[in-house]
Amino acid sequence: ASFQDAGLHPVMLKNVELAGYRNPTPIQRYCLPAIHLGYDVIGIAQTGSGKTAAYLIPILNKLMGKAKKLAAPRPNPATYQPGIDPPVRAEPLVVIVCPTRELAVQIFNEARKFCYRTMLRPCVVYGGGSYKDQAAQLQKGCDVLVASPGRLVHFMNDPRILTLRRVRYMVIDEADEMLDQDWKDDLDKIMSGGEGNINYMLFSATFPKGARELAKTHLAETHVRLR
Ligand code: AMP
Repeated sequence: ASFQDAGLHPVMLKNVELAGYRNPTPIQRYCLPAIHLGYDVIGIAQTGSGKTAAYLIPILNKLMGKAKKLAAPRPNPATYQPGIDPPVRAEPLVVIVCPTRELAVQIFNEARKFCYRTMLRPCVVYGGGSYKDQAAQLQKGCDVLVASPGRLVHFMNDPRILTLRRVRYMVIDEADEMLDQDWKDDLDKIMSGGEGNINYMLFSATFPKGARELAKTHLAETHVRLR
């Protein structure tokens, strides 16, 4: 029941240590093996439970060794000149959807810690920020995308900038909050926006009807429900 015993990639184990996390929280103890084994997950968890790392650590850990093989062709960020070099569209492997800009930035910062010294590049987009600047960020390459739902759908409608065709993991964080804000149709669109096999993780403080419907529509029959 420690991070050392979780069978993590040495780079991930080091990043967990650098984050200062000594022992997994309860939701992390449940989530790590469930996601490692490839289950879809419903997590009933509050902010402060450590739910962000509970999905980031096992997802990124799985992708770590495979990033080179899975990731889309990418420009060299050191030499890429936006507006001069041809744009490259973002083809993320992980998409995390959450209700607010503040939460998106918080998740992005957590993702940065765990992507450290890997091939995986995190990116964040949200409503209220500059569409143009965010598009330029995406076009430098993005493997892990943290997004608010409205802005994400906006970018999905712009396939020169973003495609979800390579997504392998999709996390819906604070689902109840987003349902309260009437994002149900957009969440349905996002969750069915990929191709191929996607593992879904649905996190919510409460589990109202809308969240149950999302789970029923998009999650695998055999999923793990954790609280
Ligand atoms: P969250 O519930 O994901 O918003 O996380 C709440 C806070 O707990 C954040 O500041 C995390 O950095 C921190 N945290 C998450 N997991 C751990 C852990 N295993 N040990 C110590 N702190 C943690």
